[in-house]
Amino acid sequence: QSCFTVLLQEARLKLPILAEEQVIMEAVRENPCVVICGETGSGKTTQVPQFLYEAGYASGMIGITEPRRVAAVSMSHRVAKEMNLPTQVVSYQIRYEGNVTSDTKIKFMTDGVLLKEIQKDFLLQKYNIIIIDEAHERSVYTDILIGLLSRIVPLRNKKGMPMKLLIMSATLRVEDFTENQRLFRTPPPVIKVDARQFPVTIHFNKRTPLEDYTGEAFHKTCKIHRMLPPGGILVFLTGQAEVHSLCRRLRKAFPFRKDVTEADTSEAMRKFKKAKQKKTVSLPRIDLDNYSALPVDEGDEDREAGIGDEEDGDSDLDLGDDPADEGKLADTSIPLYVLPLYSLLAPEQQAKVFRPPPPGTRLCVIATNVAETSLTIPGIKYVVDCGRVKKRFYDKVTGVSSFKVTWTSQASANQRAGRAGRTEPGHCYRLYSSAVFGDFSLFSEAEITRRPVEDLVLQMKDLNIEKVVNFPFPTPPSTEALVAAEQLLVSLGALEEPSCTGRLKEMQRAKLSCPITPLGRAMASFPVAPRYAKVLALGKQQDCLPYIIAVVAAMTVREIFEDLDRPARSEDESSKLNQRRARLTQMRRLWAGQGASLLLGDLMVMLGAVGACEFAGCTPKFCENNGLRYKAMVEIRKLRGQLTNAVISVCPEVGVFVDPKMTPPTEHQVVCLRQIVLAGLGDHLARLVQGEDLVDPKWKNAYKTPLMDEPVFIHPNSALFKKLPEFVVYQEIMETSKMYMKGVSAVEAE
Ligand code: ADP
Ligand code: MG
Repeated sequence: QSCFTVLLQEARLKLPILAEEQVIMEAVRENPCVVICGETGSGKTTQVPQFLYEAGYASGMIGITEPRRVAAVSMSHRVAKEMNLPTQVVSYQIRYEGNVTSDTKIKFMTDGVLLKEIQKDFLLQKYNIIIIDEAHERSVYTDILIGLLSRIVPLRNKKGMPMKLLIMSATLRVEDFTENQRLFRTPPPVIKVDARQFPVTIHFNKRTPLEDYTGEAFHKTCKIHRMLPPGGILVFLTGQAEVHSLCRRLRKAFPFRKDVTEADTSEAMRKFKKAKQKKTVSLPRIDLDNYSALPVDEGDEDREAGIGDEEDGDSDLDLGDDPADEGKLADTSIPLYVLPLYSLLAPEQQAKVFRPPPPGTRLCVIATNVAETSLTIPGIKYVVDCGRVKKRFYDKVTGVSSFKVTWTSQASANQRAGRAGRTEPGHCYRLYSSAVFGDFSLFSEAEITRRPVEDLVLQMKDLNIEKVVNFPFPTPPSTEALVAAEQLLVSLGALEEPSCTGRLKEMQRAKLSCPITPLGRAMASFPVAPRYAKVLALGKQQDCLPYIIAVVAAMTVREIFEDLDRPARSEDESSKLNQRRARLTQMRRLWAGQGASLLLGDLMVMLGAVGACEFAGCTPKFCENNGLRYKAMVEIRKLRGQLTNAVISVCPEVGVFVDPKMTPPTEHQVVCLRQIVLAGLGDHLARLVQGEDLVDPKWKNAYKTPLMDEPVFIHPNSALFKKLPEFVVYQEIMETSKMYMKGVSAVEAE
């Protein structure tokens, strides 16, 4: 065994979950379903699969689901390393890729992947045990999987092919699973892993910055770095753009010199420590699971040890945004090693946060929510929490969606704080007051209650769950959401029309139990939203299929164009940005084509972009030069392959393949494409407000949709912005500065 493996084993033995191995294994032996709760970092994800493997559960497969791709991939690598087994045995599968082989014994996968497998084999016969990880996140697929497995496990046991279910949560809030009689008639045992969580001192801001919390995070991080003893810093922000902007500012303020010698920095560290040791403070214990016990109105300032003590609150030191000012703060004697972390970051980049930082430097990770529970970053002593989270919100009636940054919940703020106390006592700096914290909701809502459910309803119908209302959801979606979903699926032809003429109540019931049609089954086998699945199912006509597949792939992958509308950060960038905007506008015009193809609008632009990019070999350079997002284009490529295979398996005679040299569609094909798209997006129809209807100026150049009273618009970037056809269909409406339709194409009036 290598030295590395020995080190790994040592680290492993220190994990709190090791003490519970016996208890866990006994519970698993004696119960069909077991719940494990343990603080993030206690070793659930990496150790429990190993316990099961060693106890002989690997005669079949051990499956473990994660809500995030990041976690599925990185955890499979980690466990393989710890077990000293090849990735043929400890493998992963996410939507487009994986390394599963016939020898795989431990399989990490995203929850969506397992749901698809249930469609193929309801009894999941390959598996001896399924572990649902991160159940506290309450992702839609995780919730559905728990509901399904609550039925599959007893079925398997009845058939004499025993199977186990393990639910793992980072919080103690598991009543939705354990006390839900519809889910588990006998409540499953809950095993609590006593994590060695060190005390974390919470510091609230006196004031709550309403706008510039990124600036506030910058100041706080600078101060921590300049004034507080060694230890990693973890900053929580809400999105990728913020993460990068803070990384840039911090790197500028504390330039990281590769040439710093170890002696230099350890000397600096020594001096620094000495200066700081003047004051020793004992840290109060804070129970992170029962935080509300803290007096809410007393904690408004940085009273405890640390920053506030020395400077009497934070707000006094007003730094402004001038880069010259940033220089004043910089104490470059100890380099700050700044790393970004978010879901879409390339895996090699993500892996950096797990490695020890260069000697003599301080690690500083700027992260989104991924660092809240799915990944544990070693050596974090300070957490800076902006208190916010970016989420997609849907209007219940219209389906209009928007990304909004809102306050997070108390539970998730406490999770974030907990990241500071994994290896020694730590500090959490909240960039908001305790009064504001007191107003946070206690817990985040389950995702299933917050979004449309037509995709889930279709998947369930395909599993022959006819009465979706009766499904044992851990938290059910609203009846309105279920009715809306069934109505849409009926209108798409995926479900049979309810044939009931009885009283209102029966009608209601009938509406919620429409059986699936053969078209619906075909649609369910396509891994895209039902509207797009319908488009695919109709795509056979007139040799349109390759185009339809490309369009559906492009519609499914969000944001294929780079966001060039953002404000420039410097003059230098401004002129570059202008050039790139001009180039993208020119390309968009080219891709939109001429004559008949123009009417396909934004979808034609997507088709043109995908075609051109593939023709050029889908290189980062081509994307960079033409305003396309490389990651999106790669994803589209993979999705085209996957959709092509899915179509062939439903309809082998079509003989479609992915052509990297796809020629543009003919005029006739464009007409056909528009009809097919209309069939899928028919309920997303909008009409230009004209003539006498145009009373209020707010309706100028605006469209009216059946469901909304508000005007909606064609975005200036759209291929149809100058044309303004009378009727259009759109992919979706996003609310930004206005209500904008995305993915617009024209419909010919009769
Ligand atoms: P949990 O699932 O309970 O949150 P994990 O099993 O993910 O805990 O993590 C246990 C420990 O293993 C953590 O302390 C973490 O720092 C460490 N760890 C996990 N993954 C990696 C990795 N890829 N590299 C280094 N350390 C890791
Ligand atoms: Mg985990």
